[in-house]
Amino acid sequence: MEPSSRAKRITPSLTLSLGSKAKSLRAKGVDIVNLGSGEPDFDTPEFIKAAAMGSLDAGFTKYTPSSGIPELREAIADKLEADNGLSYDPSQITVSCGAKHACLNVLLATLETGDEVIIPAPYWLSYPEMVKIADGEPVIVPTRLENGYKITPEEFAEAMTPKTRMIILNSPGNPTGSVYTREEMEALARVAAEEDILILSDEIYEKILFDGEKHWSVASLDASFYPLTFTVNGFSKAYAMTGWRLGYVASPPWAAAAVEAIQSHSTSNVTSFAQKGALAAYRGPQDCVEAMTQEYQRRRDYLVAQIGSLPKVNFIRPQGTFYLLLEIGDTKLSSTQFAERLLEEEKVMVIPGVAFGDDRTVRLSYATDMDSLQRGVERLAGFLKRL
Ligand code: PMP
Repeated sequence: MEPSSRAKRITPSLTLSLGSKAKSLRAKGVDIVNLGSGEPDFDTPEFIKAAAMGSLDAGFTKYTPSSGIPELREAIADKLEADNGLSYDPSQITVSCGAKHACLNVLLATLETGDEVIIPAPYWLSYPEMVKIADGEPVIVPTRLENGYKITPEEFAEAMTPKTRMIILNSPGNPTGSVYTREEMEALARVAAEEDILILSDEIYEKILFDGEKHWSVASLDASFYPLTFTVNGFSKAYAMTGWRLGYVASPPWAAAAVEAIQSHSTSNVTSFAQKGALAAYRGPQDCVEAMTQEYQRRRDYLVAQIGSLPKVNFIRPQGTFYLLLEIGDTKLSSTQFAERLLEEEKVMVIPGVAFGDDRTVRLSYATDMDSLQRGVERLAGFLKRL
């Protein structure tokens, strides 16, 4: 017997497996500096935990409507209006098991077999695999460091074929830390709108922005973009809630019922009491988000200052997220060789860029404490000098 051809097309998540490897090495007493992590090192704020625990104590332990409890969908609609200038009815919002699940629901609800989805690289590694799960064809468009790792309208237009159904945009971006300006976002969306191409806008790192940079939600920029755009967001990154599995998509009116139907027959609702935590996150004080972001910025500043003087590597100054993408082309090593040698020789974990569709890079995460960052940078410097 064999697994389905669909299953055989999918590559397991390298970041998740490398993350487990780092944790198990550390458990064995190896002094690993983990710069591979894709999750905040902070604990979830207390008031959010208290809301979930209170609801558990109160017996809030049953099925909920599959797209989420009404008060959470309302809170999300209010947030999208207040923060992003987006007008969604709560019925257009589906709360899912993380932004990852929200993306998959959208792809399953919109793609026909063989439909092409344009994905600028370096990309978050789940996009192409999720497109394949939905029987679509990922079309990878490389971007350049000189261009801040952002796809241009010309590159987008050139990658289009009659089978193009969607483009995936992710700003602030994992693994690049790039942030699209309003003008850049609008120009891309215009190209999409001219051809009725859907836009999956993954805005999960929206709150982790530096230097006063502003986030633009593509669906808010022009009335013609709104019916084409799926706005994905969640709680994992901004509120340090990765393990809670809470995200959502706001869909255009024609698609919301389809997204909901798919979820209703696969996972049903997100864990009832976790939803109460999410409700508290959106209705409660937001200074926790600001404090965490300030700390990421402090670490970003440190990394940029330290790595800027290292030989054989290059990078763009991240404007958001908690990642820095290192160009390692001058080392003549593949990203896997680089990451493996750095782990073996210096006990520093980074993620090889081949996982993100760019073998000339490795991703460093600064979702870790300052002490680990300092040790990581020292070891990286020693490694590069020896090469
Ligand atoms: N989108 C991007 C760009 C991400 O980096 C991640 C998490 N690594 C997700 C979505 C998924 O987040 P969640 O935990 O909400 O599923």
